[in-house]
Amino acid sequence: MASIGRVVVLLGAPGAGKGTQAQVLSGRLGLAHVATGDLFRAAVRDETPLGLTAKGFMDRGELVPDAVTIEMLLERLAKPDAAAGILLDGFPRNTAQAEVLDTALEEKGGRVDVAPYIEVPEADLVARLGGRWICRAAGHPYHELTKKPIKPGICDVDGSELYQRDDDKPATVQARLRQQLGALATVVDYYRGRGVLRAVDGRGEIDRVTADLLDAIVPATSSKA
Ligand SMILES: [Zn+2]
Repeated sequence: MASIGRVVVLLGAPGAGKGTQAQVLSGRLGLAHVATGDLFRAAVRDETPLGLTAKGFMDRGELVPDAVTIEMLLERLAKPDAAAGILLDGFPRNTAQAEVLDTALEEKGGRVDVAPYIEVPEADLVARLGGRWICRAAGHPYHELTKKPIKPGICDVDGSELYQRDDDKPATVQARLRQQLGALATVVDYYRGRGVLRAVDGRGEIDRVTADLLDAIVPATSSKA
């Protein structure tokens, strides 16, 4: 049986830049970037047996069971582009999933090698996620941090008023975020307990965060070989 490559679990809250970093890191490390949402879509599209099983659950409006997701992950791990390993993005989302993943990897002689965690304070996440405004006339997007209009509250393009959708209001963003952070904290604790967590400061420039993540990942995984 072919041995399993490195398994890196990238952790971070919504707004922490996890998706962007996952793309860059997987390229730099030669790992397959595996986002479970993409995995589901591909399996359903290709009508694999697991894809059809997953589709059955989704069509009934039910959550896809962890066991099915894990089987998809193991299939993904066996593909040629994952020979060096995978970088997981968006899984596990809770400790039950983390335990199922560990058990499945152990059965194949593998393990989670390192779980880098992009750490961003809650207030920063709220600012990043909640600063969106759009114009009434055409929905032109603005952001309090990254794309301010020239005149406050007015669209640069058409002069119409800017407003926040309910979903983008700070109170809504914060409430949603708190739930997600609760689940994330349990996963972070889980991997800390397993001795594989590497927290990295997620504030500041994307390139600097990438460099810190690479520092955190490379020594932890190169010692395995
Ligand atoms: Zn506009």
